[in-house]
Amino acid sequence: MDRSNREASGFELLGRHYRTGEPIAVRVQEGVIAECRSIDAADRELNGVNLPDAETLSWIAPGLVDLQINGYGGLDMNAPDLTEETVTALIDRLWAEGVTSFYPTVITGSDESMERALAVIHRVCSRLEQEGGPGGMHSIAGIHLEGPFISPEDGPRGAHNRAFVKAPDLKRLEAWQQAAGGRIRIVTLSPEWPEAEAFIARCAELGIVAAIGHTAASADQIGRAAAAGAGLSTHLGNGAHPVLPRHPNYIWDQLADERLWASVIADGFHLPAAFLKVARKVKGDRLILVSDAVSLGGMPPGNYDTPVGGHVTLTEQGRLHLAGQPALLAGSALPLTAGIAHMQSCGICSLGEAWDMASTAPSKLMKLEADAGLQPGAPADLAVFTLEAGQIRIQETYKQGKRMFRRACEAE
Ligand SMILES: [Zn+2]
Repeated sequence: MDRSNREASGFELLGRHYRTGEPIAVRVQEGVIAECRSIDAADRELNGVNLPDAETLSWIAPGLVDLQINGYGGLDMNAPDLTEETVTALIDRLWAEGVTSFYPTVITGSDESMERALAVIHRVCSRLEQEGGPGGMHSIAGIHLEGPFISPEDGPRGAHNRAFVKAPDLKRLEAWQQAAGGRIRIVTLSPEWPEAEAFIARCAELGIVAAIGHTAASADQIGRAAAAGAGLSTHLGNGAHPVLPRHPNYIWDQLADERLWASVIADGFHLPAAFLKVARKVKGDRLILVSDAVSLGGMPPGNYDTPVGGHVTLTEQGRLHLAGQPALLAGSALPLTAGIAHMQSCGICSLGEAWDMASTAPSKLMKLEADAGLQPGAPADLAVFTLEAGQIRIQETYKQGKRMFRRACEAE
């Protein structure tokens, strides 16, 4: 039995520590980790626990935190007809991927459509918070606004609709923040706009992380953005021109700036391993994995028609590309666990270190209490997983000590 031993007073999870591999017991009480201790032989005897070998135990890790996710499992946060049911379904779907906090990402669109999406997400969160209890638990830690204050240039703009791209506008942000009930926590913009500096400074005052992304900014503009309070580079290395001057360019500038954390899409398709390795070396603990998944994430392989991307193909391996043009990616379709496994399989870092890049590191940037990981006092946001042929398989997910997901069991 490596499963929970539930009692009214709390429960204990037995498994392997995600960083050390050591057998541990995590005691959860009132939604918080009360204790995380290693289990030795004497301990086993004392408690009469007949523990199987460490190798057969599941792993226990902090729940995953995704700063950028547009949709998953056929659920699209940027659908023009976004409903409360879709948002609720996305929360539920992501428990199965071990995600205990995420930032649904609303991308460039008309003022009205963006405002509408923000209001819908806000309403769902408010409703769940009022309901309380296990059914009321949710994992939306905030909203990520990606655009429309990005570069209008082809390349950096990526798939964002040029018709709606515009200069940073504080009045607009305030209107959106009101519609979102104050839940906007990340804004990705380009500092190439003259308005960007004042905008970024205001974001810092509002407790919003200003992130540099979809940019064609100069070294000077990036430096001034960081000085004004920008704290993150969004999916660094993507949303860029296909060809850049060898130097200077905005990728070097952001890599070199110690004030900037960086997020990367480590799905194995968006960036070569060499880039991920360099990003890890220079950013250290300030490198964050994001899924940036689109609604086709987690769907069966096949051909699909999408409102924005047109005809696309999702391969067996989880690569999403334009139909008939395998070289052209049409978004990301893999969950965070795939990025973690990829970082390890490339030999860039251990699985535990990669796990931190998708859990405690983003929590730290966003000042979430979950940044303490498996330490006592941290919220019991936990993922229990097994490893099968190098792939991470989520078995159970807990949010503040409440089990939100359990894989249909094989034998128990
Ligand atoms: Zn993007």
